[in-house]
Amino acid sequence: MEKLVSLCKRRGFMFQSSEIYGGINGFWDYGPLGVELKRNIKDAWWHDMITAHDELDVRPGAPSTYEMTGLDCTIIMHPQVWKVSGHQDLFSDMMVDCKESKGRYRYDQLRGRWVEAKGQKVFVTTKVEAEEEDEDLQRRALKFFNLRAKNVEELSWDGDTVSLETISEFENVLAPEAKSVGSLTEPREFNLMFKTIVGAMGTEADTAFLRPETAQGIFVNFKNVVDSTRVKIPFGIAQVGKSFRNEITPRNFTFRSREFEQMEIEFFCHPDSSRKWYEYWRDRRMQWYKDLGLAGERLQLRDHAPDELSHYSTGTADIEYAFPFLPEGEYGELEGIAHRGDFDLRSHMEGKLDPNTCPLEVEKGEDGKPKYRGSGKDLTYRDPETNEKYLPHVIEPSAGADRATLAFLCEAYQEDEQPDDKGKMQTRVVMKLHPRIAPVKAAVFPLVKKEGMPEIAKDVYRALKAKFPAVYDEKGAVGRRYRRQDEAGTPYCITIDGDTLTDKTVTIRDRDSLEQWRVKLDDVVEEIAGRVS
Ligand code: ATP
Repeated sequence: MEKLVSLCKRRGFMFQSSEIYGGINGFWDYGPLGVELKRNIKDAWWHDMITAHDELDVRPGAPSTYEMTGLDCTIIMHPQVWKVSGHQDLFSDMMVDCKESKGRYRYDQLRGRWVEAKGQKVFVTTKVEAEEEDEDLQRRALKFFNLRAKNVEELSWDGDTVSLETISEFENVLAPEAKSVGSLTEPREFNLMFKTIVGAMGTEADTAFLRPETAQGIFVNFKNVVDSTRVKIPFGIAQVGKSFRNEITPRNFTFRSREFEQMEIEFFCHPDSSRKWYEYWRDRRMQWYKDLGLAGERLQLRDHAPDELSHYSTGTADIEYAFPFLPEGEYGELEGIAHRGDFDLRSHMEGKLDPNTCPLEVEKGEDGKPKYRGSGKDLTYRDPETNEKYLPHVIEPSAGADRATLAFLCEAYQEDEQPDDKGKMQTRVVMKLHPRIAPVKAAVFPLVKKEGMPEIAKDVYRALKAKFPAVYDEKGAVGRRYRRQDEAGTPYCITIDGDTLTDKTVTIRDRDSLEQWRVKLDDVVEEIAGRVS
């Protein structure tokens, strides 16, 4: 992972936000290569899910034909949206505070291990990444018991490193930045929504929130879309955009950021076919990641067990990836696909529903009135053919563009041994990104800077550039130019050499197989276009 992080910075995939001021925790910038990569991932998602969706044919696994459409909603919405959706009350993480260091930590993310020495047993905790955990725990235990490194065998460890959640009493817990035990508070809830003030008055009544998910913009526009277009159920509304969560412990590079981008679909269907639609979307979304190159054992689809589901949902699954920064055998969520029943539309119609009631009922305040009132607007749907009026069910595939980008980067990073210009074997770093998402599709090199080769190479470059991102490079030995492109993930390199001058052909080199073949100058653009789309 360290190698990938350093490559991302060195080659301009990602930088820490405001880095020259020391950075700001949980915020990341995408550099010149990163912005293209992330944009390609979002474009591939939008293209495959929405613009290229064929409404006339039944897709494999789908119960029927369906329509897809898009939206682009604001980040700041009416505050009532977040009350009714439940985010204001429920969108929180459990956290613990350290009374000694004043640090605040996510309860489920602190890990530690029991250790005994000098007749005392403590649960030492750490907040470092998985690969540094053992080292940090040992260092902290030695320090706590006032032992030198050479006396490490005096530490008697008990059991594996486990989550703080498994510990019931905190009096023997050594917090990650504390010197003495027992400084952690009981877990408390912390709301993850960022607050802001709308308008010049600056009073509490003007408080609004930065959206923590894009989905609510879709629900509150459901009626607008139905009334303004000819879409008929079943149909989906998609949105890509920024979301904000004041994560307590942002970590693992961009995996848990405070500002990130989501790619969400709310798919509206008849209650009778909703289970089938859920299964369709779950499998379709899994296939999408596979098609773009996450096709190994590191990718998995995990169906939630029945006791993990809210009762109004008949299914939820996570698409997960074994990110290299996670402990062995653990996976991180890339996307969740949830069957949400009519929970969201009913809440925005009637008022915040109590998820613990069955059948669902509007949550009441102490005065017996709805705790948070809905819009009162009729969000039911009337089927134009059968005239049936019903509240649609929703299937929600909710993906993160940053987590997808990170997973594709992790999967792409490879090292192999290849001969350099002098035939000496060297370690090659290569980003094996799928050509569809690779930031640059082709690089053009004149073998030497003379004999008219640069002129021909520049013409090839211009012709390519009119269609997709391409670069021209005439600096250094060809081998070094190849290495530069391998690190950037460029799938094809085109070399103009002596033969080009006589037979008007060029060499194309494949980044992954290193295979080289010649094609006619006039056919280069078509050849590359066919391979990268
Ligand atoms: P987690 O349990 O990891 O916090 P979540 O279950 O809260 O994730 P959802 O609310 O289902 O996540 O959000 C949908 C998607 O948005 C996630 O699958 C993930 O790809 C992305 N996402 C959520 N939170 C973050 C974050 N803090 N940073 C980056 N991406 C995120």
